[in-house]
Amino acid sequence: MDDNKFMDIAYSEAKKALVRGDYPAGCVIVKNGKVITKASSRGITSKDATAHAEMQAISDACQKMRSRFLQDCVVYTNIEPCLMCAKAMVYASIKKVVYGAEHKEYENKKTFDILKQNDIGKDIQVVSGCQKQKAHRLLKIFLAKHPDFLRI
Ligand SMILES: [Zn+2]
Repeated sequence: MDDNKFMDIAYSEAKKALVRGDYPAGCVIVKNGKVITKASSRGITSKDATAHAEMQAISDACQKMRSRFLQDCVVYTNIEPCLMCAKAMVYASIKKVVYGAEHKEYENKKTFDILKQNDIGKDIQVVSGCQKQKAHRLLKIFLAKHPDFLRI
């Protein structure tokens, strides 16, 4: 299934981030079954609070598509996006997001539920749980070194 194929790429990006010392998030943006771009989190090593995998992938995809809109694009990310990245996906008119592991950054509230409850991003299709065990394994390794980073 295509979702697994693209999540494999996101996972391999996430592993690169972990090896580099960053939060183990990887992201791939796909249009019509073709990878537009991929990125991994660089927040720690770049000392940039906004350098999340999804933000970098959206930015790069916009450059490549020469548009601030990424209609018909699907975002694959191994960990549930944060509110910043989810809102960036809304700004970019992303059609669908597929993610793996959920996190508890907002207690028991899911990122896209928070947005949708506020009438934001209601049209985005959200699929969760794709290869979540693999994402959890990377998160556990990361959190052993950074116990206060994020609750899962
Ligand atoms: Zn984010």
